Amino acid sequence: MRPVAWRFVQDWNCIACGQCCKEYTVVLRFNEWLNIVRHYGVETTVPGLNKIYLRKRSDGSCIFLRRIGNLAICGLQHMKPQACKLWPFKIYTKPRYGQEKQALYEYRTRKFFVYVDPACRGIRWGTPTRHFMSKVVPEFIQIAFGTAQKQKYSTANINQLLMQQLVKPKVVPVKVLKVRVS
Ligand code: SF4
Ligand code: SF4
Repeated sequence: MRPVAWRFVQDWNCIACGQCCKEYTVVLRFNEWLNIVRHYGVETTVPGLNKIYLRKRSDGSCIFLRRIGNLAICGLQHMKPQACKLWPFKIYTKPRYGQEKQALYEYRTRKFFVYVDPACRGIRWGTPTRHFMSKVVPEFIQIAFGTAQKQKYSTANINQLLMQQLVKPKVVPVKVLKVRVS
């Protein structure tokens, strides 16, 4: 899908649906590959023609994807590849997909062009909220350009999602009794 400029996004929150960990193949940088291989073995990665990827299971999901109830959790949190950290955002120093005005984001006197992949289920469309503009987008820029590693606003809030899952009322199927009317 063609990426859309950030100005059309009201807010973004990863809902840990795991869709991206199933539908996409993660390309690793050399140092990421080295780190993963050291900790988990070379069999967790797959060599390509001139790229190295994270291995997938037979159902298409990333080998590091874990499920807790309805939530899809990354089992590689402490060494998550940059491609995963940045998804679904795409950040450039020049406009790439048109919508130049709407994609422009000025951060610390520099100009960036920020787009989002509309396939992500965590996107809410509309006028950007203050939180999205001042916290989410800048953190993605920092991660893209290596000035930040830790994710606070650019990742799922797992604790909150787990709590929501715990307090969600369980729907008990109602047994329908046949009533004989005479
Ligand atoms: S980034 Fe988007 S697609 Fe991926 S798990 Fe989060 S909400 Fe789902
Ligand atoms: S490393 Fe984590 S975030 Fe990346 S695809 Fe695998 S499970 Fe998903």
